[in-house]
Amino acid sequence: MMMSKTLQEQQMDWRKLADKSLAGEGISREEALEVLRADDDELLAIMDAAYRVRRQFYGNKVKLNLIINAKSGHCPEDCGYCSQSRVSDAPIEKYTMLEKDVLVDGARKAMEMQAGTYCIVASGRGPTPRELDQVVAAVEEIKATMPMKICACLGILSQEQANRLKQAGVDRYNHNLNTSEDHYSHITSTHTYADRVHTVDTAKQAGMSPCSGVIMGMGETDEQLVDVAFSLRELDADSIPVNFLNPIPGTPLGHLHDLDPRRCLKALAMFRFVCPTKEIRASGGREVNLGSLQPLALYAANSVFVGDYLTTDGQEATADHRMIADLGFEVERCAL
Ligand code: SF4
Repeated sequence: MMMSKTLQEQQMDWRKLADKSLAGEGISREEALEVLRADDDELLAIMDAAYRVRRQFYGNKVKLNLIINAKSGHCPEDCGYCSQSRVSDAPIEKYTMLEKDVLVDGARKAMEMQAGTYCIVASGRGPTPRELDQVVAAVEEIKATMPMKICACLGILSQEQANRLKQAGVDRYNHNLNTSEDHYSHITSTHTYADRVHTVDTAKQAGMSPCSGVIMGMGETDEQLVDVAFSLRELDADSIPVNFLNPIPGTPLGHLHDLDPRRCLKALAMFRFVCPTKEIRASGGREVNLGSLQPLALYAANSVFVGDYLTTDGQEATADHRMIADLGFEVERCAL
């Protein structure tokens, strides 16, 4: 009797938290920490509360994004999670920037998979003039022939480069904060957290929609995960990819296995409460870390990637489409 009263009170608390998030007051850091640290038996109540917020702003629509790895490997940076870095021994395919026609073909594939956004992602610290020319040419052709939103992710940009991408038709620019400011130097030494914030600001300045997110499971504390959620709120990122570390053998973080599906779900809910109106994407590492609980992610997140990730496989697009239909949700078609 006592137990069920306590549980009911706890459920009421999560609903109140949802109300607070919906009212635009923003939840506090302490409340965000409570979400991450809640008992597993409160998980469904938390997801129910997160769904109330998600439904308010996104209904039951799911946005799909497709990534193309436009340039693979050969990166001089040392991001500890990345198989393309100079410090990785992971046996990946390495190639220079794909030709324009290949990039354009990728957008057609994105349309076939019902993706509304095509993400052109290239390894490296930032694009060379030739690489930028190739991306610009591909973007111009895609925008002239297909109803597709384009997100570019090419590393650190100058203002001139950002302006050029915007003029070519790039809708959104992705540059993840990845982790909190005070954990950043444990992950990467060749550029700083401030460099990343600056690039997001540069993209905003050019008029592109800012996309910036995290990779959880890189040894961060609960407080650090909450910190980066609040930093992304401050940065006013329109789109927040929440990645779950897929520890790739041969990378410096290849030994970390800190995540379980319940923690991933609580983190998605926490991001939804902190950034209620934003596009939250259950991103890289979803299949590996959420496993059979993947569908629950969509009660907090309103977007996923279809197809493969940069150097790791995703599940078949048909499995994603089936998961969305089974939930009674719908793929959001590109409105352009
Ligand atoms: S995340 Fe990007 S910048 Fe960092 S090593 Fe990988 S490709 Fe290079």
